[in-house]
Amino acid sequence: MLIDGFGRKHDYLRVSVTERCNFRCHYCMPEKPFSWVPRENLLSYEDLFKFIKVSIDEGIKKVRITGGEPLLRDNLDYFIKLISDYKSDIDLALTTNGFLLPQMAQKLKNAGLKRINISLDTLNQERAKQIAQKDVLDTVLEGIRKAKEVGLKIKINCVPLKGINDIDILEVLEFCKKEGFPVRYIEFMENSFAKNSAKGLTSNEILEIISKKYPNFVKVLRDTTSPAQYYALEDGYEFGIIEPHKDDFCSSCNRIRLTAEGFLIPCLYFEDAMSIKEAIRANDIDKATEVLKLVLKNKPEKNRWSNASDNKVSGRAFYQTGG
Ligand code: SAM
Ligand code: SF4
Repeated sequence: MLIDGFGRKHDYLRVSVTERCNFRCHYCMPEKPFSWVPRENLLSYEDLFKFIKVSIDEGIKKVRITGGEPLLRDNLDYFIKLISDYKSDIDLALTTNGFLLPQMAQKLKNAGLKRINISLDTLNQERAKQIAQKDVLDTVLEGIRKAKEVGLKIKINCVPLKGINDIDILEVLEFCKKEGFPVRYIEFMENSFAKNSAKGLTSNEILEIISKKYPNFVKVLRDTTSPAQYYALEDGYEFGIIEPHKDDFCSSCNRIRLTAEGFLIPCLYFEDAMSIKEAIRANDIDKATEVLKLVLKNKPEKNRWSNASDNKVSGRAFYQTGG
């Protein structure tokens, strides 16, 4: 079992397979100038898988593939299959912007993927273009339709930004309710790669907007390590809000992150990280296990966003860590 220095049990590993992305979202990535990590610095699928096996053997029960945009990396279905064949009951999921799903959804499903989170910040074409810096909406919607058709279980992620897509919060909710997808609004997390102008909505501001149409929603109490707080509308439809600025957000944290370059990151805000690349490339499983335990031991108690009086932003790029 993997337990950190504050007694939190860890059973969730997020693996970023690439930092590259075909979008340039306002809240995540600068437009330019840009240089990507050279491909030879990335761990191969086989090496990433070696570490995933170490983690599963140590108690990881949920693995999420993310990025950058994970579907940009060639043959992602091969990687999914490696994991799914190793442990078929692992909770294996993927987070994507959905743009490449029209051609990839069936392959991912065939490889053993069951669950998928798709980012959808708005249903308005112009505002989707404004956020991603590219005309993406029609293709993303086609990707969502395809993922549903092949039987992937879908959740939607939405990051509301002031003055941009705050007016779309209800429309995204209506779309997800109609399609039967849970939606989770994510409070914008300040980071030095986001556009300076990006300002997020707090969970209270999001709830206030939703309450204009659905005044009788109720808080749902769940005994879970999910980072989201869930709410139910009168008809039973549930939506969530991820509130990293909330004081007790980190108390049930159960996750660690592995970047495509092999850095193991205990917390999104924490600048320190340790590399498992050398150990994994040398097939030194004991060393990789030792690094995993050390990273957990040094995990901080709280993230930076939980302290409202601290104006610092994270120097970690979301497109590198996978969010
Ligand atoms: N490219 C994929 C996508 O967009 O879904 C996967 C990687 S992305 C970094 C993972 C999640 O992080 C997305 O749901 C995205 O909306 C979210 N995200 C990125 N930057 C964020 C920020 N500054 N604050 C809150 N959420 C953010
Ligand atoms: Fe790319 Fe996802 Fe970041 Fe948008 S949020 S720039 S899609 S990695």
